[in-house]
Amino acid sequence: MLIVMRQDASAGDVEAVVEKVRGLGLAPHAIPGAQRTAIGITGNKGGLDAGLFEGMAGVREVIRVSQPFKLVSREVKPEDTVIDVGGALLGGRAIAVMAGPCSVESREQLLEAAHAVKAAGARFLRGGAFKPRTSPYEFQGLGEAGLRLLAEAREQTGLKVVTEVMDPDDLPMCVEYADVVQLGARNMQNYSLLKRLGTIGKPVLLKRGPSATIREWLMAAEYVLAHGNYQVALCERGIRTFETATRNTLDLNAVPVLKALTHLPVVVDPSHGIGLRAHVPAMARAGIAAGADAIIVEVHPRPEKALSDGHQSLTPAEFAELMRQVRVIAGAIGRSIA
Ligand code: PEP
Ligand code: MN
Repeated sequence: MLIVMRQDASAGDVEAVVEKVRGLGLAPHAIPGAQRTAIGITGNKGGLDAGLFEGMAGVREVIRVSQPFKLVSREVKPEDTVIDVGGALLGGRAIAVMAGPCSVESREQLLEAAHAVKAAGARFLRGGAFKPRTSPYEFQGLGEAGLRLLAEAREQTGLKVVTEVMDPDDLPMCVEYADVVQLGARNMQNYSLLKRLGTIGKPVLLKRGPSATIREWLMAAEYVLAHGNYQVALCERGIRTFETATRNTLDLNAVPVLKALTHLPVVVDPSHGIGLRAHVPAMARAGIAAGADAIIVEVHPRPEKALSDGHQSLTPAEFAELMRQVRVIAGAIGRSIA
């Protein structure tokens, strides 16, 4: 249920509603919004009686939320969420570009990649220090040394750092270094991690599980919001289908569907989505045309030498050309590149 307060409701009116919700043994969530103050209620098993709140001072309307996901839904918050990552915006009219290597491999590799993507116009640097690899014999990431390199790259370029957390034990360390904490596809339904991400006070990039439905994905995001963190972006990175010609099938259907169902920013990852360097630019362009609020693209100074995902990483020159193209597409749909 959602309680929408009148614009002239006093702080005391809002507090009285919050107290009443708590008194019922339920959780009140003040929903940040430009147009209105609203209080979402979670924790109720069945439907709540709207009459409990309708008569209260300052209450404009009581809305029953029809979706199983509440705090992430557009019913609860009609306007788009814009996440301010230290001055770089994620969500809203301007499209954010995140780029960098799959894995942080060395100081030279990371700094070269960071300067290249910065020069081409990206605002966010991606790079994994903890890597979820299918084989235990493959490169697992540099761990904290990788996080320190990301911090150095941020220092040199001003790019905001997006990096993945895999293990709850590493979360405090990742939060310390990251500007945006990525939860990888394989962990989308790791509910203990999702709950912890609700408490970190930093934005979360929640990748879609390779076999997750849109509803399951939104429910995973709901965990993070329900635990107190409203700064969540959803990243479509391809799902597993019967197709074997590509690594995954980038589900661009998800972009407009999500934009209708949720206020959270939607990010498209064409690199993992198709998994073939030659075709990554086409899917990045398509993601933006479909309405994504950001793209995240793997870029490596020497893809053929990469320790992970070189086959889908763009060279800096290819990335610079892609940036030129996405600016045109963004303009064609009344948006811009941040
Ligand atoms: C990555 O971003 O390098 C990654 C491992 O992504 P995903 O979790 O989507 O596979
Ligand atoms: Mn990768």
